Amino acid sequence: MSKKSLLTEMRDTQLAIEMIELGARPQVLESETTLSRERLLKLYKEVKGVSPPKGMLPFSTDWFLTWLPNVHSSLFINIHRYITRNSDCSGIEAVLKSYRLYQEYLHTNQAEAVLSFTRAWTLNRFFENRMLETAVCSGCGGHFVVHPDDLHDQYVCGLCNVPARAGKTRKAKAAEGSLRSSGAPTGVPLAGAAEGSRRSSGVPAGVPLAGAAAQIELTAA
Ligand SMILES: [Zn+2]
Repeated sequence: MSKKSLLTEMRDTQLAIEMIELGARPQVLESETTLSRERLLKLYKEVKGVSPPKGMLPFSTDWFLTWLPNVHSSLFINIHRYITRNSDCSGIEAVLKSYRLYQEYLHTNQAEAVLSFTRAWTLNRFFENRMLETAVCSGCGGHFVVHPDDLHDQYVCGLCNVPARAGKTRKAKAAEGSLRSSGAPTGVPLAGAAEGSRRSSGVPAGVPLAGAAAQIELTAA
């Protein structure tokens, strides 16, 4: 039997609590910690006051490609790239940090979170396994989540080409509005093209809008 060190166990417990607070499903906790399922369920109940939801994790990549989820997924993955490229952060730590920044960004822009922590974690898995990647929008130069098997030569993102029905839900409208509201030119939420010039000017690279950039500077410092 492995002699799991007390420190590892403490660290895993702390990590599990953090993830539970962010809404992680039990499967995520099991995958990222060495704690037993019983232990995790007990911890979950203690932190949340209720039993975790049952059922499988969302598995399909399709969800990330639908309009509003795609905007949010792209935002998250841009933040995550920034974090992993510009700090020592990696693995679950980077996912946690990126998710907090995603939440802060939405809070600042008064938008509702579309990407749950479990979805964000799954998205990162899909990127690690190359089941999803990003393509550069030919309209705004932003980096957006796409399927690797599709053609992306003349890729146009969901913000440069908003589907007619997208504007009809209040939630979608609010999200779109707030993603555009920080003074950035319309349709340039996920800067990537400007990466080089941003880097030289001291502005964090590969990061969406000014608000998030400021947040990231503070947190990543
Ligand atoms: Zn675009």
